[in-house]
Amino acid sequence: MIEIKNLSKWYGPTQVLNNSSVTINKGDVVVVCGPSGSGKSTLIKTVNALESFQKGEIFVDGIGLHHPKTNLSKLRSRVGMVFQHFELFPHLSVAENLTIAQVKVLGRNQQDALVRGLKMLDRVGLRAHKDKFPGQLSGGQQQRVAIARALSMDPIVMLFDEPTSALDPEMVGEVLDVIVTLAKEGMTMMVVTHEMGFAREVANRVIFIDVGGCILEDCSKEEFFGNTEDRHPRVKEFLKKTFKH
Ligand code: ADP
Ligand code: MG
Repeated sequence: MIEIKNLSKWYGPTQVLNNSSVTINKGDVVVVCGPSGSGKSTLIKTVNALESFQKGEIFVDGIGLHHPKTNLSKLRSRVGMVFQHFELFPHLSVAENLTIAQVKVLGRNQQDALVRGLKMLDRVGLRAHKDKFPGQLSGGQQQRVAIARALSMDPIVMLFDEPTSALDPEMVGEVLDVIVTLAKEGMTMMVVTHEMGFAREVANRVIFIDVGGCILEDCSKEEFFGNTEDRHPRVKEFLKKTFKH
């Protein structure tokens, strides 16, 4: 579904991704973790063509992002992206947030887009809020709307960049529950998160990136959490800190 081959990226002189290779198969739920500034956001943004890269190749559903003829906006519309800060349009209602890209990017008519959007809003349990503006919703609700918006585009894969990091603790669960449900339904996902309990529950693979953009681990969840003695020393240190409390 996604193939990242020997990807390297620099911001000016600073290397942020270092010869990274990752394959995501259909139905995979891959958790990406690692310290702040290690390139996790950059990695998933390159997959969605929101960031360019200097070396390597990325294929999404067999289509190469690096080929000059690839229609990036069309490709991007098939890759759902959910950000830390929701990034809903504040001046549009929930329903409008859900339909605008369907109409503008996919060319759906308004009525079909609304039907699809409301169906997805139902899935995240927020249909009753369709006429509100984002500012009238809690952070957890806004993030669930952002997930519904991404799902409305019929994505082949969903990318999440720390979807719960900006939320008050009591709202984390409601957002993770939605993501867990998607995982159980077989959605292919790449999730950047520090929620290791969640990773243990739903991931089938865990990737660890260290500062400088090196992928130090790419292994099954069972290996990552169960077989800690075999992990890279940096990963052991990370796990020790994460589970200290
Ligand atoms: P993470 O998501 O793991 O915290 P990022 O992918 O956001 O890390 O950032 C990786 C590195 O790239 C960091 O050192 C960060 O400061 C740098 N970086 C991120 N975005 C930019 C940018 N637009 N310009 C220059 N440096 C950037
Ligand atoms: Mg980040």
